[in-house]
Amino acid sequence: MKKKTVLITGSSRGIGAEMAKTFAEAGYNVVINYNKSKEKGFAVYDEIIAKGGSAIIVKADVRVKAEVENMVNQSLKIFGKIDVLINNAGIAVDKLFVDTVESDFDDIFDTNIKGMYLTTREILPIMLKNEFGRIVNISSIWGQTGGSLESIYSASKGAVISLTKALAKEYALSNIRINAISPGAIKTDMLTANRSDKYLAYVKKVVPIGRLGEPADIANMALFLASDKAEYITGQVFAVNGGFYI
Ligand code: NAP
Repeated sequence: MKKKTVLITGSSRGIGAEMAKTFAEAGYNVVINYNKSKEKGFAVYDEIIAKGGSAIIVKADVRVKAEVENMVNQSLKIFGKIDVLINNAGIAVDKLFVDTVESDFDDIFDTNIKGMYLTTREILPIMLKNEFGRIVNISSIWGQTGGSLESIYSASKGAVISLTKALAKEYALSNIRINAISPGAIKTDMLTANRSDKYLAYVKKVVPIGRLGEPADIANMALFLASDKAEYITGQVFAVNGGFYI
């Protein structure tokens, strides 16, 4: 059987990098995408290739249509199709709402939701042509509950959930399944950079499972949602958060 191909936006670091390695180990062709972290992205690529996996790496800023188009064209040139899309690239800004400025809003929405739009808009027609597609969108616990100091981020991640549900209905009869994952507190730069050990210890304490999440916790859910085992699942939001929000 021909290998399936997955494209993962923002897979140079953190959750996306772990997903790239997980899908490669599961036998997928992987399209690794970086924007600023070229070195880290290539380290992910080298690790996959060293283990006998199949991957390419493409630079693309998901906010820029031409770069997304180029990434998709490069992927098709090498692998011929895209079966699974994981919209993972994202940024967060921690500020009181009253301290935010217009550019914070634009940066967050351009990356977290416009980037998702541009990438999905480019790849869905390919999936429709192939009569097969699996899309996993990465939302956040704050998209479900709202996070203090993360109001704009929360709004963008709420939009991810709405987009997921609407598209799932629109393309369910075309064999395209679209789901979202809402991670809790996962140990990546996004959570730990600029945050004190005291704060992280507090978060750990309020998570019922008693630990911070690992990128692998999210990668495993994404792999399941992309698999045939999730054939009857679409339009759902899966909270992977150690019981943080039940
Ligand atoms: P991270 O460690 O900060 O990594 C973010 C990734 O997104 C990097 O690979 C980065 O690539 C990429 N990215 C950012 N802007 C981009 C752009 N314009 N174009 C292409 N790629 C871009 O964050 P993470 O924790 O892994 O986050 C991954 C996803 O999970 C995000 O959507 C985030 O909102 C979500 N999430 C995370 C947590 C958490 O606790 N960590 C919780 C809930 C949801 P470059 O460095 O190459 O630019």
